[in-house]
Amino acid sequence: MIFRTRFAPSPTGPLHLGHAYSAMFAHDLAVSENGQFLLRIEDIDRSRSRSHWEQQIYDDLNWLGLRWPVPVMRQSERLAVYDKALDTLWEQGLLYPCTCNRRDIAVAASAPQEGAPLHGPDGIIYPGTCRRRWEQICSDRYSRPKDIPLRLDIAAAARQAQGLFHPAVIPDAPNSSVARFQELGQGPDGETGIIQFTAEELESTIGDVVLSRRNMGTSYHLSVVLDDAAQKITHVVRGQDLFEATRIHVLLQALLGLPTPLYYHHQLVRDEAGKRLAKRDDARAIAKYRADGVTTADVRSMVGL
Ligand code: GLU
Ligand code: ZN
Repeated sequence: MIFRTRFAPSPTGPLHLGHAYSAMFAHDLAVSENGQFLLRIEDIDRSRSRSHWEQQIYDDLNWLGLRWPVPVMRQSERLAVYDKALDTLWEQGLLYPCTCNRRDIAVAASAPQEGAPLHGPDGIIYPGTCRRRWEQICSDRYSRPKDIPLRLDIAAAARQAQGLFHPAVIPDAPNSSVARFQELGQGPDGETGIIQFTAEELESTIGDVVLSRRNMGTSYHLSVVLDDAAQKITHVVRGQDLFEATRIHVLLQALLGLPTPLYYHHQLVRDEAGKRLAKRDDARAIAKYRADGVTTADVRSMVGL
């Protein structure tokens, strides 16, 4: 099996030092293992993706000395694949339509009996409102609505995955685990090695995440899982901010019959005040350093590579 890593930016703004670190880290790892470094453009959010940002990604990464095979995978060209996976999950009874907006969710989650709203990888953990009012949203339980956001029923999904997580396949798996993955780097609290989780943990810390967003027909979580599998990625290298979301990805891999790669979550590049860099942090845009005559070697030492 070829050792494969990837860098998967969204063309919604300039790449900054944090992206440079992630891309070079994944690239160096592949090179050191005689493997391959792949690029993927995560442009499912059509309202925010721009072709000039995509072009700048290619320019910046080239300037950093990175090389990758072409053609590059672009998520906007893979909507049919995402649609098919949604069909599969729908047929298993694991999705339901949700018409809540942010405000509805905030109000429902802060109802007195719910206690303080808890946050998961996608914000407030969904309180399950629409799971209990199916019939009001669609008259027909059999055909999947295409224009309404769809959520994963995480409890049902965890039950299903538990059946797939067989002691015969994974000998020392405790009975209560739903799935697990191997962390070669570290989560934000130093989590490393074999990471496993139970159905209860998924329900209380993740909740019913959206897998098909309005006007997208997919979501980051669904697409990333399908694309990593399609690109035969063996080592997913990315920032620690995505460590928690990995449990959703591993669950989806189990449900969709896809392999689970190894994960390497790295530390985030922070500014002088210790805050992580954001997309709008244009002061640290790679293009700006490039224009200022900074060298690639300088960038490497700035991020500690
Ligand atoms: N498109 C995602 C981002 O820019 C990358 C997610 C990933 O590496 O899995 O944050
Ligand atoms: Zn809802």
